[in-house]
Amino acid sequence: MERVFNFSAGPSMLPEEVLKQAADQMLCYEDSGMSVMEMSHRSPVYEKIIADAETLLRQVMEIPDNYKVLFLQGGASTQFAAVPLNLLSENGKADYILSGQFSTKAYQEACKYGDIKAVASSKDKNFSYVPRVERADFRADAQYVHICFNNTIYGTKFPYIPDTGDIPLVADFSSCILSEPIDVSRFGVIYAGAQKNMAPAGLTVVIVREDLLGKARKETPAMLDYKLMADNGSMYNTPPCWCIYVAKLVYEWIVRLGGLKEMQKRNQKKAELLYGYLDAQDYYLAPVEKESRSMMNVTFVTGDPELDKKFASEASAAGLKNLKGHRSVGGMRASIYNAMPYEGVEKLVAFMQKFAQNNPKK
Ligand SMILES: *Cc1c(COP(=O)(O)O)cnc(C)c1O
Repeated sequence: MERVFNFSAGPSMLPEEVLKQAADQMLCYEDSGMSVMEMSHRSPVYEKIIADAETLLRQVMEIPDNYKVLFLQGGASTQFAAVPLNLLSENGKADYILSGQFSTKAYQEACKYGDIKAVASSKDKNFSYVPRVERADFRADAQYVHICFNNTIYGTKFPYIPDTGDIPLVADFSSCILSEPIDVSRFGVIYAGAQKNMAPAGLTVVIVREDLLGKARKETPAMLDYKLMADNGSMYNTPPCWCIYVAKLVYEWIVRLGGLKEMQKRNQKKAELLYGYLDAQDYYLAPVEKESRSMMNVTFVTGDPELDKKFASEASAAGLKNLKGHRSVGGMRASIYNAMPYEGVEKLVAFMQKFAQNNPKK
């Protein structure tokens, strides 16, 4: 069977080149005589893989030297607890911006550990925009501010980086990491589950400023302690070896393409094609405020749940998979991450036009 265009929000498409390379090396990695899946994580050949992965990620994202890069497990959701455990003192304060379901989950988890305040929320309009906040909105003694930079479910992205002054800014980048250049130095912690835009599920990347290490509460599980993980080069225990290897291939692919500037150009071109079409017609509605539009996840509805259902199923039959929106938004969601070719979005827009013609609204 031919490969389809997979618009899944995650796990999602990986670059075909990367999949082929992994397939070529599946049985025997270089001259090791074994698969990466079978290797000791302490072997020199694997140590080189993880070291190269870190070097490449640092290069691609231009991560400053005073940041540690951690390759962890447990998904972004584990970071919802790891962040307060590492950064929040007993009864300490942290401020959260609620821009969707994941940031709300992060907030709820943090509430177990201290005095947590939701300083802004866009729940009033079903998270169809990103709240604007200013420095004065944060408590002066907050130990960190948490945001979710790209809201996968709703299709919104922060159009700005909040100014938190000296308060470390912590950001969930799960669905936008590596999609465009970002000034890492504006953040205290960046974390991302890999399965949206980086690698298979099972790997979580944490980028943490060094001065934030070593403050974990004493009850912090060893596996969640950033400093312990940093001191052990992400190998306190067995790391997600295979996922880190595929991530390395993805980083190499980005370097070959020309880095994050080029990635951004490609992603903008795809997003402009889709949003451009949405703005030029009135059959579909894009519910997200224009300023807050995500470049990675594009949501739209017909306004008729029956038509939405028909759309997703006919699109699927045409090789455009996983376009059904999240149940909390309804309608459709096209996730157009780095690995989605421009051609996939062209096919989608052509399908949308045809569907609109063939299914007039009553
Ligand atoms: C998918 C996603 C999560 C949850 O990730 P897991 O790895 O499944 O825990 C959290 N935040 C964002 C922004 C996501 O897109």
